[in-house]
Amino acid sequence: MISLSAMATRASGAHGIMFHHFHNDVVPASQGSLSAGGFERILDFYGSRILPAEEFFERVERREIRPTDVCLTFDDGLRSQVDVALPIMQQRNLTAFWFIYSNAFSKPSHDLEMYRAFRHEKFGDMNTFYASFENEVMRSLYRNVSIEALASDRARNHLSQYTFYTERDRRFRFLRDLVLGPAAYCEIMGRMMTTAKFDPNSVAGRLWCTGPELQRLTDGGHIVGLHSYSHPTRISDLDEREQREEYRRNAADIRAIVGRDPLTMSHPCNSYSDITLAVLADLGVKLGFRADMSKLDGGALEVPREDHANLIERLEA
Ligand SMILES: [Zn+2]
Repeated sequence: MISLSAMATRASGAHGIMFHHFHNDVVPASQGSLSAGGFERILDFYGSRILPAEEFFERVERREIRPTDVCLTFDDGLRSQVDVALPIMQQRNLTAFWFIYSNAFSKPSHDLEMYRAFRHEKFGDMNTFYASFENEVMRSLYRNVSIEALASDRARNHLSQYTFYTERDRRFRFLRDLVLGPAAYCEIMGRMMTTAKFDPNSVAGRLWCTGPELQRLTDGGHIVGLHSYSHPTRISDLDEREQREEYRRNAADIRAIVGRDPLTMSHPCNSYSDITLAVLADLGVKLGFRADMSKLDGGALEVPREDHANLIERLEA
């Protein structure tokens, strides 16, 4: 548990505000999504502390960033960000960073967003999905290893610092990330989608924004940056060559879409190592963002970010 006063102190340092999904009257709500009104409340709360993306970038580069400076950041290139948040930002003359993992643009794939759409469409609520997921795991080869891991202290403590996760959210993430890993998780989800007759290719257009939209963002003073090619949940587990390939390919895709070299990035699922930071520096990246506020003394590739879920919880308290 993080107390309110600790959070207020933390928020006094320069940081990004991290946004994911949005909803409004037209775009339906999904787990953790922020309403248009909630977005406006966060913008009002920070007010003139919010710098245009280019100015924030230049201040970091020139080492002139001030403790009160903040910027807006959007991860994953999601459709609802362009549909809900962008018009509000345009009214207020604000620009942001948009961190894009590019296989979302090159091919529909089994990945985070696809799974999210599947959960949303085929299950009434998250707990129904979690129960069904665990049933599938218990029918698989991974049954014994999962039972054993779920009974451990490691399972009980996993992600317990994030107060916005329920116990079941944490249990699911523990199974997915620490017990199954990407290949087995993909296998389980694939089996569930087949059983439910869900076609992953049918939803791609509804999930992500498009290349021309990213081009228009760039033309309007927004900054499009890296978020890896395939968005692994733990990129720090990959070796140096694989990590380099993730970011090199992502950079090439972004260059092809918006016509300039990406110089900024955010770490997918907050995962990185010293190797990652060296690879990014080597690729010419000048500014990188974490996905939380737990490390405030990092360099320009580890700028902290406050999650919109924490902010809205605090503003509504
Ligand atoms: Zn992401």
